[in-house]
Amino acid sequence: MDHADLISHLKTIVGPAHVLHEHADMDGFLREPRDLFKGHAQCVVRPASTAEVAAIVRLCHETRTAIVPQGGNTGLVGGQIPSASGHEIILSLTRMTKLRSCDPASNVMIVEAGMSLHNVQDIAAAHDRLFPLSLASEGSCTIGGNLATNAGGTAVLAYGNTRDLVMGVEVVLADGRIMSQLSTLKKDNTGYDLKNLFIGSEGTLGIITAASLKLFPKPRSIETAFVGVASPQKALDFLLFAQANVGEDIKTFEIIPRIGVDFVTRHMAARDPLNTPHEWYVLLELTSAAAQGLNAKMTGLLEEALERDIIDDASIAASLEQRHQFWNVREWLSEVQKYEGGSIKHDVSVPVHAVPAFLQDVIEAIEQLIPSARPVPFGHLGDGNIHCNITQPIGADKAAFLARWDDVNELVHGLVMKYKGSISAEHGIGTLKRDLLPRVKDPVALDVMRAIKHALDPHNLMNPNKVLPSK
Ligand code: ZN
Repeated sequence: MDHADLISHLKTIVGPAHVLHEHADMDGFLREPRDLFKGHAQCVVRPASTAEVAAIVRLCHETRTAIVPQGGNTGLVGGQIPSASGHEIILSLTRMTKLRSCDPASNVMIVEAGMSLHNVQDIAAAHDRLFPLSLASEGSCTIGGNLATNAGGTAVLAYGNTRDLVMGVEVVLADGRIMSQLSTLKKDNTGYDLKNLFIGSEGTLGIITAASLKLFPKPRSIETAFVGVASPQKALDFLLFAQANVGEDIKTFEIIPRIGVDFVTRHMAARDPLNTPHEWYVLLELTSAAAQGLNAKMTGLLEEALERDIIDDASIAASLEQRHQFWNVREWLSEVQKYEGGSIKHDVSVPVHAVPAFLQDVIEAIEQLIPSARPVPFGHLGDGNIHCNITQPIGADKAAFLARWDDVNELVHGLVMKYKGSISAEHGIGTLKRDLLPRVKDPVALDVMRAIKHALDPHNLMNPNKVLPSK
């Protein structure tokens, strides 16, 4: 089937308005917002239902047309962007935004893949429940994309990552069949855990069209503190101290370096949350199902940590506005790096206890490799997940600095391996890390992944050339 025939068949499935094939109309789907990844495609097709997705996939199966599924296009590893070949089609799920059901008594809701994470959170809240997945792009990312990438974020410490928040999935398989596993049961022990094959598969095994999601009691009280500490070791000491004292209430425990606060106050409408500068910071959030008493717990925790010299300074948000100000410092850390020139990025994890040693090694090794380059490591200390980004030296040539991308990757990933960590903590593999996988993944595990891919997608039509390295 030639290009024109394919377009006309797709138009009969979804309606002419929902097949985009002029370059100007497709442009926003062919690149991601940071412009690090871009490609070409035959068209963008935008189905409104699972039946339409299935019809599209059946057509692609018959015509051997490869499909790149796409949600909110916020992925950071290129998984949602087509190749340069122009042969693939993009299947955008953003018209599939329906709430299928919400059952607060059973703590479960079923939503379609294209609903934004923010809407999922809002609907849960309207039913007096919490859907705890929370990340910087929640206004535009979709729940289907969150599942496909097994997204993490800032509440993983308390609630787990996306995998832990899903009860079931509906998936369109590579041959166009619909596999419905939208369980709402807490106990269902009937064979292989198929949902977890598709969660985190980055669209390489099938297309997630809906999910049943776990809901939790909505917290009745929230306390947020911005804390100054002398070093990552002190931040870790504070984590352990907090876990020993208020462990059940800790929702978020994030580490931020001084340079990150400098960047945010320099480039955004933000003030330094504390009166004097500190080398490192912790953003700590406690939540509780109890309406009373949490402020006293937070105050007591911080006072005792100050007394024991674990922390040097702290401020508790006194209003909702101040809470947002604290959070903005954390949420803007990714964005502000671009105003400082080139930034070489890593999303890595090491065992929590090893974070201080890992960070010290990285800072020393970068100083050796590119003197004056500026490490800006930040992130989810409570999960051992650090966004270990390196910003260029002041005044250096951006292109020359970014040309060192592979050298810097090698250095950071080498240290990750030294501490038995992972080169992808929460962003996934996509194309960015695909060719690194054979160096870090058990070869037998990689063989099993290839066998599963071949069994489910023998013609390699589901997001080809992502995740799995070519042999
Ligand atoms: Zn993160």
